[in-house]
Amino acid sequence: MAYNNSIGIGTQAVWGGEETEHPYRATQTPIVASAAYGYQDIDHWYEVALGKAPGFIYSRMSNPTVETLEAKICALEKAESAVAFSTGMAAISSALYTFLKNGSRVVSTKDSYGGTNKVFEEFLPRMGVDVVLCETHSHEQIEAEIAKGCDLLYLETPTNPTLKIIDIKRLVNAAKKVGAIVMADNTFATPLNQNPLALGVDIVIHSATKFLSGHADAMGGLVCGAESLMEKVRHYREINGAALDPFSAYLIIRGIKTLALRVRQQQQSAQAIAEYLQTEPLVEKVNYPGLVTHKNHHIAIEQMRGFGAIVSFVLTGGMDMVTRLLPQLHHAHCAGNLGAVETIYGPARTTSHVENTLAERQALGISEGLVRISVGIEDTEDLIFDLKQAFEKVRNTSCR
Ligand SMILES: *Cc1c(COP(=O)(O)O)cnc(C)c1O
Repeated sequence: MAYNNSIGIGTQAVWGGEETEHPYRATQTPIVASAAYGYQDIDHWYEVALGKAPGFIYSRMSNPTVETLEAKICALEKAESAVAFSTGMAAISSALYTFLKNGSRVVSTKDSYGGTNKVFEEFLPRMGVDVVLCETHSHEQIEAEIAKGCDLLYLETPTNPTLKIIDIKRLVNAAKKVGAIVMADNTFATPLNQNPLALGVDIVIHSATKFLSGHADAMGGLVCGAESLMEKVRHYREINGAALDPFSAYLIIRGIKTLALRVRQQQQSAQAIAEYLQTEPLVEKVNYPGLVTHKNHHIAIEQMRGFGAIVSFVLTGGMDMVTRLLPQLHHAHCAGNLGAVETIYGPARTTSHVENTLAERQALGISEGLVRISVGIEDTEDLIFDLKQAFEKVRNTSCR
């Protein structure tokens, strides 16, 4: 899984991990749809099974198409090694379960992906892991909790759905002092904009379902970092079984080839949409790290190369207004997903925080009028026009 640091990320997205020659001189990575691999020579079989010779035994352990995807994320995240999973949540929970045991202490933030939050609050405590979830905006509180003793620091930045930015380097420094492993979910930023490994993080995780695959037609998860850590994660996958199937691996490989093109277009539109929303009277608040008014804009500039394709905003009038606005949009899916070529709108209540009660959402500062936009690759002007006409319709009906 070699990589060349001097090659641009757009080029890496196309070629990374795919330098090898394929059977039949095919130019595209083949989908190797085989559960097992056959051997005539029992001694050779034994050597491969023991990991002493290269080769494949059974696709829960390794598969050529899946390995190509793993090599590709290594190229993009500048990682030594990677392990692919059936979904992003399988990647997150498996990475956590690999390194945590009864008595471990985890420090993280209140704003993490909904499923991750449930692992922290429901499943890890059950196995005797002490989980402390800090106020996301308070670097001081996070540092203080790390200093009390911490085996694992788990970060996600930008956060979902309020786009808070966490200073990765600062918290990595605190974690290194107490010998904690640091994991970061890099799904929202994408490798185009942020490489947490270069900032000192040990393990980077992606929901490949989102920007990496990019077309909302495959699910997958990726974990990457040093081989000394990845061999443990790979062993966990082998035994616990949430391996990625080769068809999905193929779709994700194909999606990644256009990652740079897509995300560059998406974040250009995201910036324009965020700026437009700031001028809209029916909008109370706009969250986008590319806005100079964003609370952590200075941190975003330091650690990111671009600000990503997710924008969220709060409508005056709460859920009632959300219910009226969303059906007026033409170029948008209303769905619980993000990172696709199509623009997607979703209220926090039905997407990122569907697992939470109203009281829990309020405690997290997530108002009922909050809507997340995953900006697609459509023309910027069309997306803004669509929003403008939707707001106009809502304004006209409310005047009656
Ligand atoms: C979607 C998402 C996940 C979970 O990924 P799945 O592929 O849906 O399991 C994890 N983290 C973030 C930030 C996500 O957006």
